[in-house]
Amino acid sequence: MIVSVASGKGGTGKTTVTASLAAVWDGPLVAVDLDVEEPNLHLFLHPCLEGSEMGHLEVPVVDNSRCTFCGACSELCQFKAISVMGKLVLTFPEMCHGCGGCIALCPEKALSPGMRELGEICWGRAGQVEFLMGRLRIGEAMSPPLIRQVKAKLNEMIAASTHDSIIDAPPGVSCPAVNAVLESDVILLVTEPTPFGFYDFQLAWEAFSPLGKPMGAVINRAGIGNDDIYRFCRDKGLPILAEIPYDRAIAEAYARGRVIAEVSPELKETFVALRDKICDWAERCRPREVAHA
Ligand code: SF4
Ligand code: SF4
Repeated sequence: MIVSVASGKGGTGKTTVTASLAAVWDGPLVAVDLDVEEPNLHLFLHPCLEGSEMGHLEVPVVDNSRCTFCGACSELCQFKAISVMGKLVLTFPEMCHGCGGCIALCPEKALSPGMRELGEICWGRAGQVEFLMGRLRIGEAMSPPLIRQVKAKLNEMIAASTHDSIIDAPPGVSCPAVNAVLESDVILLVTEPTPFGFYDFQLAWEAFSPLGKPMGAVINRAGIGNDDIYRFCRDKGLPILAEIPYDRAIAEAYARGRVIAEVSPELKETFVALRDKICDWAERCRPREVAHA
């Protein structure tokens, strides 16, 4: 089972929930940080890193000796990442999305794939939990290809053993967030009952609902703000799977890089109950095999 922990906005407690769920998970687990622009799950799980590799994007490299300057590559590229000016072909690797279209199209085979570094993929272990994260290079804007490479590594790890995984997804509802949750079995939306929290929570619900996956809410800092989120969840039939109280002890634990499920027996019980609800719920939503006569 793959559980994605997402949120419409940053700062709602997504990583806090991910780390605490990982801490109480029953059985083999890979905890994955796909918030590649600002990964911070490692600050709470404190993994020992055992390996890393470069995440990269294939960008075109021009062989001027073969090029006839026909302009077909430039016409094809929707991102203006390759341009033909007279007898000069210019490439702009920072704007390239790595689709490979120009390389496939070039009639003279004058383009070949080169590599642009996107960031790194690291893995290791935090106690019983396997750990995996992507970290985008500073200044790099293209996070979805790195996210896909981290997910490919996750698939290798899952294939090697029967692990569940919990993904700390990027905040927001743009390409990185959607990319991160695509293969999930369950999506948890972490939010807080404030006007900003409610607004972005609605966006997240609208963005992820078309994926047709089981989705539930975790209300962090419960007790502040108003009850708009509760009414919204009731109207949309979105289950509230856990509420985490607004509590100074939690804020202090977070600031010290502690897993909040370990702050008190009550909080541990909250996350154990959340874990059990996710597992029961995923089991109930699992497509049943249809018996054919
Ligand atoms: S498509 Fe190939 S031959 Fe034509 S301009 Fe581009 S690189 Fe040169
Ligand atoms: S690989 Fe795709 S995005 Fe990159 S330059 Fe070629 S056509 Fe443009």
